[in-house]
Amino acid sequence: MLGAAASLLNIKVVILDAGEHAPAKQVLSPLSTKYAHFDGLFSDPAKIKELAQKVDVLTVEIEHVDADALAEAGCEVHPRPSTIKLIQDKFAQKQHLKTRGCPVSDFITVESTVESIHNAATTLGLPLMLKSRTLAYDGRGNFVVRDVSQVPEALAMLGNRPLYAEKWVPFTHEIAVMVVRSTSGQVKAYPVVETVHKENICHLVFAPLRSRDATLSRRAQIVAEAAVKTFEGAGVFGVEMFLMDDGGLYINEIAPRPHNSGHYTIEACETSQYENHLRAILSLPLGSTALKVPSCAMLNIIGLSSSMAEIKALTDVALTVSGASVHLYGKAECRKGRKMGHITIVAESDAQLRSRLRILLDALPSSPV
Ligand code: ATP
Ligand code: MG
Ligand code: MG
Repeated sequence: MLGAAASLLNIKVVILDAGEHAPAKQVLSPLSTKYAHFDGLFSDPAKIKELAQKVDVLTVEIEHVDADALAEAGCEVHPRPSTIKLIQDKFAQKQHLKTRGCPVSDFITVESTVESIHNAATTLGLPLMLKSRTLAYDGRGNFVVRDVSQVPEALAMLGNRPLYAEKWVPFTHEIAVMVVRSTSGQVKAYPVVETVHKENICHLVFAPLRSRDATLSRRAQIVAEAAVKTFEGAGVFGVEMFLMDDGGLYINEIAPRPHNSGHYTIEACETSQYENHLRAILSLPLGSTALKVPSCAMLNIIGLSSSMAEIKALTDVALTVSGASVHLYGKAECRKGRKMGHITIVAESDAQLRSRLRILLDALPSSPV
């Protein structure tokens, strides 16, 4: 999606990823003079150095990279490797946010021992959210300890990773805000969205956020902008938040890159998160983040098994729905819980959106809402 946005601006892209058929390499034809593909692991310091020699500006689409290698890459990197390093350790990220006055729920570091997690449960209460500090995504790295008898099971699952514990947050909704940050540190928030998760994986996004609280959206944007201001380097950031019953907000976590909760911006905003990421890292003027449609939803296409049949059945239905745009990522294999693509639906009203979305939800084998 970043490559597609770059193509329209004649920005030459060099991609480092393993395999000839990596998704980005399928979008960007090797025959085009705009692109040069490059084979290797983005966790390999030697490959990162080689990539740095080919480009003016280097950016990442995943935070689980070698941040130290990026720091020594020898070219401009956005966001800054120090930011990526900070964010990739969720405990360090939370500490950073807390010391800068950003709202986060209570959390403490734990050792991978039964005793340490028992102590955390005594301090923070049950249920307790045990999280891997690093390499987490789609909830793979989280364990909800509802009773201390589950601690051995939690350790069997996560014990070989550095851990920390968070107090359970009894939120009413999860919301998210994309924020674009320029090389000069100017920040601009996108509209606030509601995210609906199923089994820790984002299933649906609704834009804009609907609430009886007229102050909520602006409050959430201010929290998100203030948090993103504390990091160095340019680009888009995804700020995940918890909304409490009393209207209070906590930041859950921040992604230093285009984010799943911002995919809707491709069809629904005046400038997509991808185009604004490119504009930001290349010191071009930032584009408008405003919505250009009254109502929008994004449905992730998530694998149910190794079979692509269900994906095909859903996208076949989506192609018949007015206002629906299908994005398939070209991943070689389908797996249960794997994000294979997404569908954005735009509409003139919430009512029209609901009726269009209903057709897609009815086409899912088990509807998430
Ligand atoms: P991703 O990076 O894909 O968003 P992740 O693996 O980093 O996911 P988190 O975002 O930390 O995981 O958590 C996944 C989900 O678990 C959240 O979206 C939320 O639904 C739930 N969750 C996380 N932390 C807490 C908490 N402290 N209390 C209650 N629920 C939580
Ligand atoms: Mg995460
Ligand atoms: Mg998350």
